[in-house]
Amino acid sequence: MKVSVILPAAGLGTRMGRSSPSPEKFGTSRKQFMLLEGSPILLHTIRRFVAAPSVTEIVVALRQEDSEWAAELLRQEGFPKPVRLVQGGDSRQQSVENALASISIDTDLVAVHDAVRPFIEIETIEKAIAEAAANGAAIVGIVPVDTVKQVHLNKVRSTIPRERLMLAQTPQVFRYDLLRRGFDKAREDGFIGTDESSLVERLDVDVHVVPGSDRNIKITRQSDMELARLFLSEETAKVASQA
Ligand code: C5P
Repeated sequence: MKVSVILPAAGLGTRMGRSSPSPEKFGTSRKQFMLLEGSPILLHTIRRFVAAPSVTEIVVALRQEDSEWAAELLRQEGFPKPVRLVQGGDSRQQSVENALASISIDTDLVAVHDAVRPFIEIETIEKAIAEAAANGAAIVGIVPVDTVKQVHLNKVRSTIPRERLMLAQTPQVFRYDLLRRGFDKAREDGFIGTDESSLVERLDVDVHVVPGSDRNIKITRQSDMELARLFLSEETAKVASQA
């Protein structure tokens, strides 16, 4: 089975509250390149997928100005699996679409994972892949702990029953042809989604859910970096105690 992983990493990270007018030097500004124990977040994420036995190749979508130093970083790392770089687009969806266009047609499954979720567990990656292999489409999700309200103009309109809600995480894994059809239809209809599942759902396909973890955070704001450092130090301590 051939499984390709797409890591969109071409965002500007504006919610981090920093601007990046000059070319990136890793660790300096955008969230996907901030350093966690000396390595850019993107590299931590790539390492997880390289370590997942079912993964065949990894395709990273980057802004053009980042491709040179990122290629050098990958060379230094010397991964035992192919890790390719493609140019990202103006939206997350466009970045994923560019990466998908570079993936060979004989690929069985495509997994899409936010580059800024470095704490994904290898076991969860494997479960999502197995579920998609069996059913065509699978995403990782967790149940919300907060009560969710629908609001309009700052007034609550309704309370959405929590037992019917799931917070969608990544990876999201699809049969190659399904994801291609999802993107083709979205382009035809001018639909922009915030995840790939929403594109495939529009094909009237059942998307299965695999339980995720609240540690699989999407590093988005400054406060997420503090949590990320804590998680990483806990993981390092755990590995050291097992050695
Ligand atoms: O913007 P958002 O927080 O949803 O970003 C999720 C992921 O998509 C990040 O890893 C980001 O770098 C990536 N992205 C991208 N191309 C864009 C915008 C976001 O690859 N144009």
